[in-house]
Amino acid sequence: MSSFIEGYKHRGMRRALIQQLYHKGIRDERVLRAMEQIPRHAFMDSAFVDHAYQDKAFQIGEGQTISQPYTVAFQSELLQLESGMKVLEIGTGSGYQCAVLSVMGSQTYSIEYNKALHNRSSKLLHRLGYSAQLKCGDGTEGWEIHAPFDRILVTAGAPHVPPALIEQLATNGRLVIPVGDRKRQEMLLLEKDKNGVVEQSAYNLFSFVPLLGQDGWVQS
Ligand code: SAH
Repeated sequence: MSSFIEGYKHRGMRRALIQQLYHKGIRDERVLRAMEQIPRHAFMDSAFVDHAYQDKAFQIGEGQTISQPYTVAFQSELLQLESGMKVLEIGTGSGYQCAVLSVMGSQTYSIEYNKALHNRSSKLLHRLGYSAQLKCGDGTEGWEIHAPFDRILVTAGAPHVPPALIEQLATNGRLVIPVGDRKRQEMLLLEKDKNGVVEQSAYNLFSFVPLLGQDGWVQS
């Protein structure tokens, strides 16, 4: 399994990627340090491993993608994670973002809709030693038995904010979700204050694969 071999080459390329992210505006040291340490190449199909440290999204099979490093960094920074927080990710995909959350010290929960991807990322995260609770299911419904979550991160493009996710957000919580049409989405941040009042702010445009399920898009 050559894709698991970690060498000077990978470390050097990763450092260069981190510098690029810094120049693109990512300033959260904890995000940059976590991404510097995680072998992104191990989360990618062997055909793409030579490109693992370019700031690009790549196919991971099943018509899905591993998010672009800048996107992972942007969403992770927007979360303002603190160590020990309970975080729910929707869209485990390759497991890379999940690894970033775990390395940042969160208690990570992640849901993936696609069975094959769920099986693959579960094995991989375990094998690489990242701890997270994973399940296969519809993330638009949240994960009620573990709620409330201090942070919720959606890594697929939604038509609207699923109400269950707002309900399952803790007070003083932050929910980061791309919302728009099937092609382009605005990054939204929803903050729930101590009285349960939710405020929304919008950031840059991104392009995610569609969020499916009950409160997502109909599969095309
Ligand atoms: N965070 C991932 C990015 C994966 S792309 C990574 O780091 O690699 C988005 C993922 O969301 C896809 O794997 C897709 O299958 C999944 N997805 C789409 N709709 C979903 C839903 N309703 N619940 C959970 N996962 C969903």
